[in-house]
Amino acid sequence: MKYEAVIGLEVHAELSTKSKIYCSCSTGFGAPINTHTCPVCTGMPGALPVLNKQVVHYAAKMGKATGCTINQLCKADRKNYFYPDLPKAYQISQFDVPICENGEVFFYVDGVKHSCRLERIHFEEDAGKLLHDEIDGTIVDFNRCGVPLIEMVTRPDLHSSAEAKEFLEMIKTTLSYLDICDCKMEEGSIRCDVNVSIRPEGSTELGTRVEMKNINTFSGAVRAIDYEIARQIEVVENGGEIQQETRRWDDVKLKNTVMRTKEDAQDYRYFPDPDLIAVEISDEWLHQIESEVPELPITRYERYLNEYGMTAMEARLLSDSFEKAELLDAAAKQVKPKAAANWILSDISKYLNDKGVSLRETKMTADKLVALVKLIEAGTISGNAGKKVLPSMFETDETVEAIVDRMGLKQVSDEGAILAIVQDVIAKNEKAVADFKAGKNVTGFLVGQCMKASKGQGNPQIINKLIASELAKL
Ligand SMILES: [Zn+2]
Repeated sequence: MKYEAVIGLEVHAELSTKSKIYCSCSTGFGAPINTHTCPVCTGMPGALPVLNKQVVHYAAKMGKATGCTINQLCKADRKNYFYPDLPKAYQISQFDVPICENGEVFFYVDGVKHSCRLERIHFEEDAGKLLHDEIDGTIVDFNRCGVPLIEMVTRPDLHSSAEAKEFLEMIKTTLSYLDICDCKMEEGSIRCDVNVSIRPEGSTELGTRVEMKNINTFSGAVRAIDYEIARQIEVVENGGEIQQETRRWDDVKLKNTVMRTKEDAQDYRYFPDPDLIAVEISDEWLHQIESEVPELPITRYERYLNEYGMTAMEARLLSDSFEKAELLDAAAKQVKPKAAANWILSDISKYLNDKGVSLRETKMTADKLVALVKLIEAGTISGNAGKKVLPSMFETDETVEAIVDRMGLKQVSDEGAILAIVQDVIAKNEKAVADFKAGKNVTGFLVGQCMKASKGQGNPQIINKLIASELAKL
């Protein structure tokens, strides 16, 4: 029998606010243990939470970017469970009235457009971290306790690990476009839980689902999903039944094991947090939030394909980075998109990678890129000279023209001056002339000699042209 996998995801993203969701402690990563703590985030009796407004702003922004309805009146609820990383023994989350509902995320898998509906986005606080390995015993670090999260819950619209991966990539790109999450996977800024079930192909009923928790990488999600689909098929083929349970994915051993069986929302005994008032988002605030949502990555991707005539790979690489896409679009108003894109995809990306910096940390601007492209197109400098100019464009406030002057990179396009060089080179290379007369192609060699003689500053097109005319005279 053929089976279809049905996959739903719960994606947690840490919001890049400076302070925690219900207290003023820092959200900075990597501090010594328990130094970003206070009575509120360590759950001391009598300590009162105060909601960080930025969290609401960021959560609603993600809702707007994913086509959700925003509940302008929502509330915080206590989700009760006992675990040592949660000092209050409840997490402040949102239950029946989340801030965002009914969205949809679009993405491409192998050139085919897919979509996955979002059931909801809510905000909540992160738990602390248990460190098991450092000493004999366990350390509880509450630095992460109270760091704001949004949880995005999908409908079960995904059907393969490849779809799940592209969906997750799109969520990540969208978060970075909105500048609401640092998206540092290695620091656990985006994590996901995966729900997997299978059903006979063609069936519309949902099978019993198995949840896998706390997957830290997208490639780990792919492995976990593929493993679980195969495991479920094997169970069913052998006459067994799938149990509703939570399994722990081990990305080192590449297998999962049972963590706990069936758990439902009622087990958490949600109730409205009596310490917090309802959250109200005014129309004015909502309009403000909406106005901050930029053109989305998928829209840009499609525009780069259709309007700029780029390949899928180029469009993807450029639209994946908000900064690069912004640079491209600004430059494309003045020069051919392809010319600007080539610089961004090659030398500009290489510089950023090598230096480990983002565009906004440099002095590169669209105007500078435009100036560079125009100087090359006009033949004022060669493409090679352009590469030499580039580092100064990142590092100084000089105009591109000033850098070119300072570095003496202006191309010689004066035909009289180049003709003298060409004639001199031909006179000095008797063997090449003999080869030419014997029918060999010596143009490349002579161009190289002329470039050398002009210290790389001769305009290669003019050199080519003059060599051809001079050889023709022989
Ligand atoms: Zn605190």
